[in-house]
Amino acid sequence: MGLLSSVFKKNVSEEPPKPVAAPQKTDVAKKAETTTKEVKPVVDKITLGYTHLSGCTGCTVALADNYGGLLTLLDKYVDLKYMPTLADVRHIQQVDVAIVEGSVCIQDKLAVEEIKETRAKAAVVVALGGCAAYGNITRFARGGQQNQPQHESYLPIGDLIKVDVLIPGCAPTPEMIRNVAVMAYLLLKGTKEQKDLATAYLKPLMTMAAGCNAACACDIMTSVINQGLCMGCGSCAAACPVRAITMEFGKPNLNRDLCIKCGACVAQCPRGFFNTDVISEYEAINEAIMAALQ
Ligand code: SF4
Ligand code: SF4
Repeated sequence: MGLLSSVFKKNVSEEPPKPVAAPQKTDVAKKAETTTKEVKPVVDKITLGYTHLSGCTGCTVALADNYGGLLTLLDKYVDLKYMPTLADVRHIQQVDVAIVEGSVCIQDKLAVEEIKETRAKAAVVVALGGCAAYGNITRFARGGQQNQPQHESYLPIGDLIKVDVLIPGCAPTPEMIRNVAVMAYLLLKGTKEQKDLATAYLKPLMTMAAGCNAACACDIMTSVINQGLCMGCGSCAAACPVRAITMEFGKPNLNRDLCIKCGACVAQCPRGFFNTDVISEYEAINEAIMAALQ
């Protein structure tokens, strides 16, 4: 009690109250002048839309996980025209780049119309993550997670429209989403040199998009392991969101019953997806991205 009362006494100080400083006069003219000076030059931003279809919203979370990087993108390079979550604007508009998250439920007339309208109004369409690219959990989830209406109702967007760029993963990494956004900007608005770097960076993702409606553990089996290319690095197992791959005796062991066909293992395998055209440009690409995000 003694201690409590002494603390209480300390908090309720017996010292006379200090005089409150008088409010400073606001010099409106001066403030307006300062504000004008801080206005940043208008940057030739690219316009971006975000169509959100069927999925778990993990890709939106991954995008938001860029924190300061996302703010830099929105500040300098991207004019976000529509997105249900971050922009609170739903109607699809004419844009340079449209990012699509989620697969299309073909029993949902609105979803089918949305994906077709997205394609019609965007110069470049990006399939973001496993659901947009391959159907992923909306088609292949197991263990009582059955979607309604049915798994077979959900299609990858590539089954309905042409896709230009694919960002793999379930969910894709925040850095990869950020890097693609920077590179899309440099491709559309950069110098000749920057356009070349952006093309080198985006080329493998465009190649993936061209065959965009299937990827699974079987692909890594046929294209890497069976070819004797696997070096046992474990990247595929580390990337798998449902632990369908375990490393045994230094090699990946696949459990196809668990696989949700997200494509993350294929994308992460340095002996599979990685395009050797990019290697010689790696440092320059990295420097361009870092410089853009300063
Ligand atoms: S094995 Fe895992 S990472 Fe590979 S496609 Fe299947 S669920 Fe995705
Ligand atoms: S990521 Fe590729 S190289 Fe590495 S263990 Fe898996 S299959 Fe082998």
